[in-house]
Amino acid sequence: MLPSIDLLSDLNPAQREAVTHGEGPLMIVAGAGTGKTMVITRRIGYLVLEKGVPTKNILALTFTDKASGEMEERVDRLLPMGYVDLAISTFHVFCEAVLREYGMHIGLPADFKVATELDAWLVLRRHLADFKLDYFKPRGNPTKFLRPMMSHFSRAKDEGITPDIYAAHIEGMVLKACDGDLARFDSLPEEVRMDFMKWRELAGAYATYEQTLLNKGYIDFGGLLLYTRNLLRDRPNLRAELTTRYPYVIVDEFQDTNSIQYDIVKLLAGEKRNVTVVGDDDQSIYKFRGAALKNILDFRTDFPDAKKVLLTENYRSGSAVLDTSYTLIQNNNPHRLEATEGLKKQLTAALGHEGFVRHLHYTTHEAEVQGVLDEIADLLQAGAGFGDIAILVRANDAALPFLDAFTAARVPFKFLALSGLYTKPAVLDALSCARIVVDRTASPSVYRILSHPSLGLSQDDLSEFVQIAKKRGLSYYSVMELAAGEPGISLAGKDIIAKFLNDIAGWQEKAKRFTASEVLVHIIRDSGLLGDIVRKPEAESKELIKHLDLLFMRTKRYVQNSPDDHSLRGFLAELDAERESGEGGSVSQDDEAGPDVIQVMTVHGAKGLEFAYVFVVNLIEQRFPSTNRSEQLPLPPGLVVSIPELDEHLSEERRLFYVAMTRAKQGLYLVSAEDYGGARKRKPSRFIAEALGEHAPALAPKLGSFLSEQVIIEGKPKVEKKNTLPARFSFSQLAAFSKCPLQYKYAHLLKIPTPGNSAMSFGQSMHLALQKFLEDIKRLQEAGDVESSVPPLSELLDTYDTSFIDEWYESEEAREKRKGEGRQALIALHAEMKAEPPRPYMLEQDFTLKVGGVLVKGRIDRIDHDGEGVEIIDYKTGEPKLKLEWDDKRQLILYALAAEQCFEPPLKVSKVTYHYLIGNVRTSFTPTDAEREKFTNLILDTVKDMEVTTFPAEPDERKCKYCDFRDICPFSAY
Ligand code: ATP
Ligand code: MG
Repeated sequence: MLPSIDLLSDLNPAQREAVTHGEGPLMIVAGAGTGKTMVITRRIGYLVLEKGVPTKNILALTFTDKASGEMEERVDRLLPMGYVDLAISTFHVFCEAVLREYGMHIGLPADFKVATELDAWLVLRRHLADFKLDYFKPRGNPTKFLRPMMSHFSRAKDEGITPDIYAAHIEGMVLKACDGDLARFDSLPEEVRMDFMKWRELAGAYATYEQTLLNKGYIDFGGLLLYTRNLLRDRPNLRAELTTRYPYVIVDEFQDTNSIQYDIVKLLAGEKRNVTVVGDDDQSIYKFRGAALKNILDFRTDFPDAKKVLLTENYRSGSAVLDTSYTLIQNNNPHRLEATEGLKKQLTAALGHEGFVRHLHYTTHEAEVQGVLDEIADLLQAGAGFGDIAILVRANDAALPFLDAFTAARVPFKFLALSGLYTKPAVLDALSCARIVVDRTASPSVYRILSHPSLGLSQDDLSEFVQIAKKRGLSYYSVMELAAGEPGISLAGKDIIAKFLNDIAGWQEKAKRFTASEVLVHIIRDSGLLGDIVRKPEAESKELIKHLDLLFMRTKRYVQNSPDDHSLRGFLAELDAERESGEGGSVSQDDEAGPDVIQVMTVHGAKGLEFAYVFVVNLIEQRFPSTNRSEQLPLPPGLVVSIPELDEHLSEERRLFYVAMTRAKQGLYLVSAEDYGGARKRKPSRFIAEALGEHAPALAPKLGSFLSEQVIIEGKPKVEKKNTLPARFSFSQLAAFSKCPLQYKYAHLLKIPTPGNSAMSFGQSMHLALQKFLEDIKRLQEAGDVESSVPPLSELLDTYDTSFIDEWYESEEAREKRKGEGRQALIALHAEMKAEPPRPYMLEQDFTLKVGGVLVKGRIDRIDHDGEGVEIIDYKTGEPKLKLEWDDKRQLILYALAAEQCFEPPLKVSKVTYHYLIGNVRTSFTPTDAEREKFTNLILDTVKDMEVTTFPAEPDERKCKYCDFRDICPFSAY
């Protein structure tokens, strides 16, 4: 492979030294914006392109999905042909993969589920009785105390403390208090004994917690790390395998690794010790999760021969930003490496611009919001794009007024990580319908829907309706049933109500037979809510649909996790319990929103990112720095060793502030107000004065123009209007676009939830069963056993039974019939395999192919050696085709290109095959050069079209008939 760009010429000497560092440990500790992340990505490129290290041998670890996504994108740009198996991921994703592969070696179920906080909470709630609690016996609502306990255990895990170590530590404490003689326990002072009782109970609860999760097949986030560490530590054979697989390990944001993550890094470094870490002690912001300066210091002792590189040139910010943030952070002396180790961390602005830092101060919070909006309008006037601007908040809640104002002013924005899903309007609508289905007394829900604009019930009808209910003391549901005979309700109104009742009856029918998630999809689609949403402006409808989709995922989670009750009623009950515990429903982040939007996020989420203009808002004492809430349940004394700091909380907040400031390239706005709705006037954050020092302008609270009429901000798009394309495409996305651009938009841009269908469920079931079986075969063969490598039929059929997805079938009979067909097909296939064992070379191989600058991602079911080259196999469960048309061939040609270009050394493809499992038919061909070229051009043309398309519909009766969106599409020809 030839480097597509020069990897080194634009780097400064120190950066170059780091990128080209040979073998052995390397550590870069340097300030913000000095190119640490850039050095890492270049180093990956350098190792691959210059040193010929296969991509699969490099492991790069980061902290957030966003950071790993960004790094992957940067590497994508460097590698000219595409690649397979480049492991850039978060610690959690990496650990999950390790445990999926090897978990069975330490007794974990191979098909464990990763428990989110919510999952763990739900499991605990169901098994509350197993926790023999006395000291912590809950008096009131038993579920309220679960979360503090969970965070206690999670802290323990961050520190690598297993339940055993925890318990041993407590017993050690007890023994010591008793001077080595447990008989003295009873004579200890009561308060001491009580404390021990508390610790012992926590130790027991921790063990129960772990066991309960495992019994349910769950591992939580902390568990992923802990078990991976244990596996690497206790199974040297597996450690050897992994260190051989990843001779190069690279870690970004090293200052935020907690002790267990650092343990994992050390174990993975193995004997080769090719480990590169980069970090900045001044940006360590996860102390509350056990991350601390300690790792940076320990690295020096653990790898005393590590090469150290210091970077001092900042390529991000203007000198005003750099100088003020440096002034601020020095308030953390002497607890900084600069102070203790004589590192020089004052940065120079390599780009030579000055930039600016301004403090904006307002009377009221409303004025603050409006003031920020005004500043943004000015920036846009001056030529900035929305995507150049970020609003950073210390805590999520602070963002809400800004989001409301943006929505009102039609400013496109993206807010990362937010909770409160269950109070989103679209979600409330859908849940209201769901409640009516299971509960006739849900009058507020009926009211919400009847007054929904999409229904079109008039105000008069609505008030008449309410009056009737009030006068006769009836539930709203009963009034709906009587409405037809009510003279006070208009004819049109009666029609609307009748139709709604009819919908409800339909859903009630469905609720008897189908799962909560299936019913929900019908509700969303039949109720007209979705049609209403799709007609809204794109940004808004996208947001609303995302919320519905998240709700849909939540129901799926419920269905998967509660084996004995899949009903809508059960789901709503669980949701109520969840809400009662204070959980508002998490809204996951959307990484694919277009780039030209204002980004609103927490400072924690902004780590590693950069923006031309940054507004850090709500800068008052007690918000930033935040009030120091001590942990509700701190870890027992002596369990973890940490480096004492003078005022830990304040120093950490200051580092966080430093992170916020150093995100800005050009302009940094520190924003505060006096009145946030309390009785007291609020003081601006001390950090403002610390940063701006004597240069702080005399502040007159500025009155924003909030009460003036609403301004609609028109952003000037920075570049000519082009659609934003996803960073990577899948084949099905490209195919969907060429079939019907509007369908593509609904499915892949708006991501409208669609009901599944039985063909898909069935296809997946067959795939899963076969893949698992083939993996077993491959494993046996790798252990040297080819002749008897095909396990008995019963194993295949068992796998089939357990992987069978029984959703979306029309009826039980239809499902059983299909299941039987699948069974027969597997029996036939097994006989064939027994006669001649298959020799799979690769299974489920992911790839990222670069075609003329476009990245296409995909996964190949199976690759076999075939004489001189390889055969690529894709499983199908539909009707066999003996002759393939161009449209059928495309997918296999893509796979052939990937095999030829992404592997090192490249694979030679001799044929490509669809294996139709039902009927056991194989249809193969050998792609010609002309076909390869045709395919490449197809991709390039499609992408070009996508950039400028207005997503027209291409209706056609046959296509529309099978389209998931035919009910909401105004152009449907069916
Ligand atoms: P942080 O501490 O915030 O994570 P960092 O040290 O990782 O920052 P990068 O994000 O890698 O810094 O780089 C900051 C910016 O400087 C990026 O836009 C990067 O492209 C640019 N940059 C880094 N090195 C150079 C260079 N030698 N020439 C030009 N630009 C550079
Ligand atoms: Mg970085």
